[in-house]
Amino acid sequence: MLRDEAPATPMAGCTDLYVALNFGTLAEARFLNLWTLDALRAIEVRSGLLSIGALATYSDIIRSPLVRRRLPMLAAASREVGGAQIQNRGTLGGNVANASPAGDTLPVLAAADAIVVLQSAAGTRRVPFSGFYTGYRRTVRRADELIVRFEIPAVAGRQWFRKVGTRAAQAISKVAIAGIVGDEVRIALGSVAPTVVRASRTEAALARGASVAEAQRTLMDEIAPIDDIRSTAEYRRRVAANLLARLLDRRP
Ligand SMILES: Cc1cc2nc3c(=O)[nH]c(=O)nc-3n(C[C@H](O)[C@H](O)[C@H](O)COP(=O)(O)OP(=O)(O)OC[C@H]3O[C@@H](n4cnc5c(N)ncnc54)[C@H](O)[C@@H]3O)c2cc1C
Repeated sequence: MLRDEAPATPMAGCTDLYVALNFGTLAEARFLNLWTLDALRAIEVRSGLLSIGALATYSDIIRSPLVRRRLPMLAAASREVGGAQIQNRGTLGGNVANASPAGDTLPVLAAADAIVVLQSAAGTRRVPFSGFYTGYRRTVRRADELIVRFEIPAVAGRQWFRKVGTRAAQAISKVAIAGIVGDEVRIALGSVAPTVVRASRTEAALARGASVAEAQRTLMDEIAPIDDIRSTAEYRRRVAANLLARLLDRRP
């Protein structure tokens, strides 16, 4: 249908789409309902990779023993999304496809080096998460493709997710961080640039033995937050640096 009856907008839990319709920012008039495609909901291990279907909801993720064991920071991020209603409807695929830099699962998937699996009538392609976003709310997904699942390699080290918003529930992030601290340190942040960012310069500085203060300076230089309705660039820079120090406190 996406190939033959274009244009059609896929709809999953509709928690973003419905808001866009209400605000009048969504022009498309035809939708393709994915909700009944149970095949896109599975959470399993395939060839050593954690595979999470695009239609897995936050509640599915929070309840999944596999996610809690292999990617606990994704369960932690999911627990902080919206409230119970949003967690029961909102999907991982919707969060990623919606492409907001404030999407809470995006830093987790970036830090975990996830692969986005896209499928169309023509075939399947796997896109590294680091190459999925091309700019503010832009992705490499073609209009005839669906995100069908995410594949996440085993993660070594301690995982940490922290979201800073106006309050603990039902708030859009001002800054979010996902980090992995093991032999190497991996850091990804949301809401500090037009897309989710992997702090690769900061990671490289830490690999060279940089102090926490040096790493914080590199991070503040590396990110590009903006002033907007939710926060200021200066606040976001400082909070990102503080979160980095908290993450590094967790080093073994
Ligand atoms: C009250 C409220 C609170 C919220 N709180 C948070 C929060 O704390 N953190 C957060 O990150 N988000 C939050 N959100 C935003 C939203 O709930 C999430 O982004 C959610 O994951 C979207 O998933 P969905 O299935 O509802 O997507 P939908 O609304 O169905 O779709 C969103 C976009 O993704 C596309 N899409 C969906 N699935 C696919 C697919 N499989 N393949 C290709 N394209 C697809 C759709 O075409 C659409 O463009 C909140 C929303 C509301 C209304």
